[in-house]
Amino acid sequence: MNIEPKNALRPGGGLLLVDVQKDFCPGGRLAIDNGDAVVPVLNQWIEAALARGIPVYASRDWHPRGHPSFADQGGKWPPHCLADSDGARFHPGLRLPESAVIITKGVRFDQDQNSVFDQTGFAARLRRDGVTSLWVGGLALDVCVLATVLDALREGFAVKLIRDGTRPVSEARGRDALRRMQEAGAEII
Ligand SMILES: [Zn+2]
Repeated sequence: MNIEPKNALRPGGGLLLVDVQKDFCPGGRLAIDNGDAVVPVLNQWIEAALARGIPVYASRDWHPRGHPSFADQGGKWPPHCLADSDGARFHPGLRLPESAVIITKGVRFDQDQNSVFDQTGFAARLRRDGVTSLWVGGLALDVCVLATVLDALREGFAVKLIRDGTRPVSEARGRDALRRMQEAGAEII
């Protein structure tokens, strides 16, 4: 399904862009195949959100050196998105407005935070902003987007996943992630 952003966003909605960072795009330290293909798609959603007064949220992975998710610490990923590094920057093509609310995660020394909701206070912020539905895109479908969507549903938010605005690390796990999100109540658009 391919839904026009301007026809989809509704009052009470929020647009959440998960980890659209250089390290997750081709040339980055944890590059996802065609990760940067989400950028033009999400830019259309940003434009539509701004035109309708819908708040835009953008999360970023922001790790200290020696983060527990890194392979040299027994984790499963190569070092990536080191705080303040070039690779941790948002993709330069992403047209994030100044009004975008940035959520920083992955900063803990004792555990990873794949979900944007994991100990960030994000649910409280959304409620304060009057958001009841989230449109979600970003990277990676089978890791941080999946964990975020499942948490959003648990917190009582309606979720619409922007299918062409996300890419998986693994195609097979990406398909599984879509199934799990749908089973949990997300709408795939
Ligand atoms: Zn990470």
